[in-house]
Amino acid sequence: MATESGRPSNFIRDIIDNDLKAGKNQGRVHTRFPPEPNGYLHIGHAKSICLNFGLARDYGGKCNLRFDDTNPIKEELEYVESIKEDVRWLGWDWEDREFYASDYYTQLYEYAMRLVFMGVAYVCDLTADEIREYRGTLTTPGKDSPYRNRTTLENIDLFRRMRAGEFPDGAKTLRAKIDMASGNINMRDPILYRITRATHHRTGDKWCIYPMYDWAHGQSDSLEGITHSICTLEFEDHRPLYDWFIDQLGIHHPQQIEFARLNLNYTVMSKRLLLELVKENYVSGWDDPRLPTICGLRRRGFTPESIRLFADKIGVAKADSTVDIALLEACLREHLNLIAPRVMAVLRPLKVVIDNYPDGQVEELEAINNPENPDAGTRKIPFSKVIYIEQDDFREEPHKKFFRLAPGKEVRLKHAYYITCQKVVKNDKTGEVIELHCSYDPESRGGGTADNRKVEGTLHWVSAQHAVDAEVRLFDRLFIAEDPSKTEPGKDYKANLNPASLEVLSGCKVEPSLKDAPVGGKYQFLRQGYFCVDLDSKNGKVVFNRAVGLKDTWAKIEKRR
Ligand code: ATP
Ligand code: MG
Repeated sequence: MATESGRPSNFIRDIIDNDLKAGKNQGRVHTRFPPEPNGYLHIGHAKSICLNFGLARDYGGKCNLRFDDTNPIKEELEYVESIKEDVRWLGWDWEDREFYASDYYTQLYEYAMRLVFMGVAYVCDLTADEIREYRGTLTTPGKDSPYRNRTTLENIDLFRRMRAGEFPDGAKTLRAKIDMASGNINMRDPILYRITRATHHRTGDKWCIYPMYDWAHGQSDSLEGITHSICTLEFEDHRPLYDWFIDQLGIHHPQQIEFARLNLNYTVMSKRLLLELVKENYVSGWDDPRLPTICGLRRRGFTPESIRLFADKIGVAKADSTVDIALLEACLREHLNLIAPRVMAVLRPLKVVIDNYPDGQVEELEAINNPENPDAGTRKIPFSKVIYIEQDDFREEPHKKFFRLAPGKEVRLKHAYYITCQKVVKNDKTGEVIELHCSYDPESRGGGTADNRKVEGTLHWVSAQHAVDAEVRLFDRLFIAEDPSKTEPGKDYKANLNPASLEVLSGCKVEPSLKDAPVGGKYQFLRQGYFCVDLDSKNGKVVFNRAVGLKDTWAKIEKRR
């Protein structure tokens, strides 16, 4: 069912539509994407980004970018910069609304002081371990802290002195006074402030007390006038707490809506695990093309359009599920099919000499750039006496269904001539085929003959003297297990890393039009898949990443098993 915005409906859109009908928030729709700058963004974040910015776009509303930077120990400027770059690259614009929870530290402190004045927050001297012990469990109620009944005056004084730096790290906390027997553990006198002498990436050493995420998050949303605070399911149990804070303070009340986070098979998405893979060099960096990070996907050859398409296709739901990574790849294929020029590249070259082709002759043959896009035009590719074809495209002893080149067999060279294999040259010692000699039919230029004889195979090729040297990196899934966390006892997810996730081919030959292919340029290598120019290309060496194959070969393999 379509909504007022014209997009397919989902439960979040239904809530917004109802709010608009009811005249809530004066008809405003204001969302935000609230990353914690403690790592690089991944495809799961992309789901949240597309959801929040997409809703703002569709309802004529706004979406803020807010860094939830409440933990000075783990947060860094590098992450802030990468997050901004990734959101922008995905195609979204937060205009002048770049906010930081740390901008609100003074306001949050005043809000907390207000709770102290109201007698619903107190300074507690229990240690972290004691607080945990007093908290109780899911089945047993907690116990009141012995400091719970301090007088308001005493609490005001102590909280001020906490801020002033009179107590050592960890000596005291400020806690909300709610209900130690609540069935919801989040309501058992949660901590609002802790003492930590750490330098913050924005506020420096100005503060020695830092708000907890749970205390900062909802109030930050409120201060920004957010109407719909969309977050993942694990915050459902925190909603009563966020509501309690807002109601005590009597400030603008955003509505929190929870949705299921994106899980993908054959990969990991927890920032902690991604950080470990990067720091311990299991991958080459945050932008390793095998990672599900946005910058990794970008380097691999993903386009913003393909990721937005993926986000649209998976939709939003209330129940957790795992999406097949093949769907993400299919979205990329769908987009690149439309935009990627078709070119010829030989990944594992086999030399072919066309004996009856005139020595020294070069012909410029016309080739269509993209049959899916008439505007893409044509280009010239040189043809000459010595060419390369793919090693796989020749079999000395072909089976019945092998339609490619074999002794005595004729095939079509794409955009060029028919050739017939006349002689096979081998390495004396190893028996390896190192060169073929063929003849060509001059009448067959462009791919047909007067007698209309049947030729079954069409091969891609490059002219040897014109070819450009290239390195090609082939990627496979980073993990061999659908759920990398499932391991034998005593092992962790790293035991499921795929040892063959990267294969580097260094002696590749690509057509000369790719000589100056720009970094990030995307191409379909005929018959082989979609490739993207890597940023390691320099000094005349072109490096390509295989973004995705032409078909879902993985699915085929699975079926065969
Ligand atoms: P961690 O990995 O430490 O749990 P996080 O992934 O929650 O962190 P945040 O920076 O807090 O990282 O995430 C920012 C926003 O992105 C949050 O609103 C969160 O709900 C959303 N988000 C994070 N992971 C996913 C996911 N897999 N699917 C959908 N949304 C996600
Ligand atoms: Mg989080």
